[in-house]
Amino acid sequence: MPVRRRLLAFLFAAGAFLAGASVAPGQTAERPLVLQEMTWRDVGVYLKTCDMVIIPLGSTEQQGPHLPLGTDFYEAFGIAKKISAKTGVIVAPLALAGYSDIHIGFPGTVTVRPETLESYIYECAESLVNQGFKKIMFFNYHGGNNIVQAKVMHRINHNTTATALAIGIGGSIRKDVPPGTYEKFFDWHAGLGETSIMLYLEPGLVRMDRVENPVLDFRFTREPGKLKELFEKNPEMAHVWNEEIGVPGRTGKGGASRDFSSNGVWTLNDLNRATRELGRMRVEAMVKSVADFINAWKGPTGKTSGDR
Ligand SMILES: [Zn+2]
Repeated sequence: MPVRRRLLAFLFAAGAFLAGASVAPGQTAERPLVLQEMTWRDVGVYLKTCDMVIIPLGSTEQQGPHLPLGTDFYEAFGIAKKISAKTGVIVAPLALAGYSDIHIGFPGTVTVRPETLESYIYECAESLVNQGFKKIMFFNYHGGNNIVQAKVMHRINHNTTATALAIGIGGSIRKDVPPGTYEKFFDWHAGLGETSIMLYLEPGLVRMDRVENPVLDFRFTREPGKLKELFEKNPEMAHVWNEEIGVPGRTGKGGASRDFSSNGVWTLNDLNRATRELGRMRVEAMVKSVADFINAWKGPTGKTSGDR
């Protein structure tokens, strides 16, 4: 197979395997509905009353010395399953990898070019649209996928009978940090928030004994600890920072993981403060905000009035 097709086949097979391995078939209101665990007849019955689907998007990339490479995927899929259990909407995990070029300097990281990922996810969504799914919700948990997610949504909204939107990262529906919980400033990757969420969702995969706070060295400023102060004084500087951080190493801007973080973690918080309880609060806040939205969009009959 050509490399591109082989990659797509791998993405699908890996996604299906992981999903299938995690939860036994069962479709009560308390259980998530996972596409790969259902039969085609189950899906046919579902489509008579509901035309919604949640597609989790994550990645396979370094997450510091203490979190597994699949963290973003486990977060997207794990939270989407909780949303499914609350709303009865199918979750369809279709890709294990994402666009992770900025982490490629660490072993185990897998990245897919944005255009490849866009085609793959669009074609998956198109299959579902053609069968009657008309409300496509992407639950993304990897910032690098935002650009791909936006393009796929645009293509679905402008070329098909379905409506697509983002309910995770890259969207505005997710409310994930109860006010006053912890300092969220620069806690972007494998930080206090993600470590806590993984302690709640997949505690067996978190190596708290290997936790190590990173040594950060930003080209933008040699005093990472004073970043917040700098941005408060000159809010415009945050725009420059946002464009320079999180870009691939080949650009020479010092914005790749390997360039500025000693161990792949991007945080100014102390990782030793991570707790399962903080993770639970964040996940429950996200599940509630998204479930409320889904129930409003779904309407009492599962299909809103004016459905095509
Ligand atoms: Zn990520």
